[in-house]
Amino acid sequence: MTQYQIEPIGYIQSPYKQKFAIPRQPRLIPQAQAKLIFAPNFNREEFVRGLDEFSHVWLLFRFHETADKGWSPLVRPPRLGGNEKKGVFATRATFRPNAIGMSAVKLEGIEYKNGQLVLLLSGIDLLDGTPIVDIKPYLPYSDSLPDAQGGFADDRPETELNVEFSQQALAFCQHQHDFPELQGFITSVLKQDPRPAYKKSKQGMQQYGMSLHCFNIKWEIESNLNTVIEISKQSD
Ligand code: SAM
Repeated sequence: MTQYQIEPIGYIQSPYKQKFAIPRQPRLIPQAQAKLIFAPNFNREEFVRGLDEFSHVWLLFRFHETADKGWSPLVRPPRLGGNEKKGVFATRATFRPNAIGMSAVKLEGIEYKNGQLVLLLSGIDLLDGTPIVDIKPYLPYSDSLPDAQGGFADDRPETELNVEFSQQALAFCQHQHDFPELQGFITSVLKQDPRPAYKKSKQGMQQYGMSLHCFNIKWEIESNLNTVIEISKQSD
């Protein structure tokens, strides 16, 4: 059997510290900013010469967190409420042969400081630490296909829940001068209802927690209202 070795060209620094609450596709949450830190073998400014002329890039990456769990020939896309099975190659599931993912994200800038090459990105759907195996510029003339059919995922996901903040949570956000977009970021994440499909049909109030950046966020959901109860900073 032919096998190939792949060397990551860099790693993602992302506000998403666990899989829960990461959007299912890129650009659904524009406030999700990340950095791509180039690995030593690829840390050369000339490797990205000309890339700043592009507004978006494709990232090819490894679903490193789940890669060792193998893959399934049939998967239940969350879009279908988790009730119907589709072939793995008809989905964007993470559990797939070779565990390769792809996301088109916004390129906000390129930095080369203190000998380290970094891409500044936004609208990402990647876990912190995700290994990047390639970068390609997004080519609108070829990559944008307005007439394409989207199968069972034809439309942008429609869930738009309401989001409210407790007094504590609101005051906390207002004091985070290093993260001026924190409230908007949390709101966008919760609007999309990050719960797994099987929890969405449950009645009554449910409580959840997640980490974004260096913050722990607790919220409860009842009907279509998310209320952020408490936010705290993780201790170092
Ligand atoms: N846009 C990509 C694609 O189509 O290949 C990813 C789609 S996949 C459905 C998106 C999910 O992958 C996210 O919601 C998150 O839970 C998961 N994910 C992101 N980064 C990951 C990683 N490094 N390892 C495992 N799962 C990851």
